[in-house]
Amino acid sequence: MNIKKIGVFTSGGDAPGMNAAIRAVVRTAKYKGLEVTGIYRGYEGMMEADFVEMSRRSVSSIIQKGGTILKSARCLAFKTREGRQLAYDNLKKHGIDALVAIGGDGTFTGAHLFSQEFDIPVMCIPGTIDNDLYGTDYTLGYDTANNTVIEAIDKIRDTASSHSRVFFIEVMGRDSGCIALNAGVGGGAEAILLPEIDSGIDTLLEELSFAEEREKSSMIVVIAEGDQNGGAYNVAKRVKEKFGHFDIKVSILGHLQRGGAPSSFDRVLATRMGYNAVKELLKGNTRATVGLRGTEIITTPLEEALHSKEFKLDEELLEIANIMNK
Ligand code: ADP
Repeated sequence: MNIKKIGVFTSGGDAPGMNAAIRAVVRTAKYKGLEVTGIYRGYEGMMEADFVEMSRRSVSSIIQKGGTILKSARCLAFKTREGRQLAYDNLKKHGIDALVAIGGDGTFTGAHLFSQEFDIPVMCIPGTIDNDLYGTDYTLGYDTANNTVIEAIDKIRDTASSHSRVFFIEVMGRDSGCIALNAGVGGGAEAILLPEIDSGIDTLLEELSFAEEREKSSMIVVIAEGDQNGGAYNVAKRVKEKFGHFDIKVSILGHLQRGGAPSSFDRVLATRMGYNAVKELLKGNTRATVGLRGTEIITTPLEEALHSKEFKLDEELLEIANIMNK
C-alpha cells in the first residue's frame, strides 16, 4: 500500500516523552514527503474528526515538554463496532491511510482491533510511565518517572534522617512494580513492596526490625500502589501496631510522577521510536509496536506484545535489592 498521509495520536494515560515522539513522527514523515494529521484526544478525537494538519513547525519546542500537545482521552465508545466504524469513516474522509498510536496497553488493544477490522496500517509506540508493556525494555516516560521518584525519596530522606522517622512512600504502579523496584534501589530504600510479589507483612516487619537493630537514622519503605498489602496507609497502620514507638509518616507521590520535562533518555528514545515507527510503516510493517531491546530499536507484532506472559520485573535487580537492604 502506498502511504500518503499518516495520522498520529496519543491515548490513555499521558507520559513524559509523548511530545518528543509526536515531533519525531511528524518530522520523519515530512522528510519522507508524507502529510501528517494530528488526531486530538486519541480515539475520541478520531470518532469526532478532531483533526489538525501538522507541519515541521507545529512541533517546534515541544521535545522538552511533559504531557501531550495532542491531548489524551479514555474513550469507551471506541470499544464498540459502531464507534470504530465512525472513526474509520472520518479517517477515510480526511485521506488518512496509516496510523501511529502512542499509548499503553489499552491503546495497543484498540489499535490492533481497529487495524484488523479495517485493514489500516498501524504502528504503536509504547508510552506509559509504568513500563508494563511487552516488546520493549523501556516505555516512554518510565525513566523520567523514576528520576522524579528518586528526587522525592532523596528529599524525604533528608527530613526522615533529621527526626529518625520511618517513611512509607507510595509510588505509581497498580499492576506493575517497575517504578517501585527501580526507584527503590536507586533511592536506597530499606524495603520495597511490589504488586507482583506477595511478600506479606511479616517479611517487612523483619526487615524493619533488622534496620532498627543497626540503628539506622532513617528508614524508607517504597510501596507500589497495587501492592498486595493494600497500599502505604494500610502497611503503615500494621507496622505501627507492631512498632508503636516508630515515628511513622506516609507520603503518596501521586500524579506528580506523570508530569515534568522528559529526561534525556526519554527524549532520545522517543525520537528513535518516532523515526522508526514511520520508517517501518513505509516498509510495509503493520500491526506492530516499536521497542527497545538492549540498545537496538526492534519491532514486535501486537499479537505477540499483547499476549506475552513475560515477567517484566528484573529478577536480578530484585535479588540485588534484597542484598542492599541487609
Ligand atoms: P492505556 O493506553 O494507557 O492503557 P486505556 O486502557 O485507558 O489506556 O486505553 C486507552 C483507550 O484505548 C481506551 O479509552 C479505549 O478507547 C481504547 N481501548 C482500550 N481497550 C480497548 C478494546 N478492547 N477495544 C477497543 N478499544 C480499546
